[in-house]
Amino acid sequence: MKDNKTTYLVKIGYLLDLTDQEDEEDIEKNILRVVSDDIMITNGKTMKWESTSAIKLDPETMNCGRCCNCNNWVTDREKPNPISELNNGATVDGNLLCDKCLPEDHRWSF
Ligand SMILES: [Zn+2]
Repeated sequence: MKDNKTTYLVKIGYLLDLTDQEDEEDIEKNILRVVSDDIMITNGKTMKWESTSAIKLDPETMNCGRCCNCNNWVTDREKPNPISELNNGATVDGNLLCDKCLPEDHRWSF
């Protein structure tokens, strides 16, 4: 039987910087312990926790990098496979820039 509900998968991104000495497995367990609760939002609605995952950002193999101007993580919206949880950006004159640092007339400028 079909009900009249629409279900959204809400994705929230956090960035975590680790040093080489830190135990990644241990930190992943801690992340899971902290981020596995349902979240109450407005109108008495609750977002039911579904999953938590972490991916290691690798500019060599993934569409991500640091903004040449402000050093924030950014994904290039004009290249294949952008990472939707990262800031939008694009490459101008060979420099990857986030949406806040792009020239004002650029289509991905914020
Ligand atoms: Zn920037």
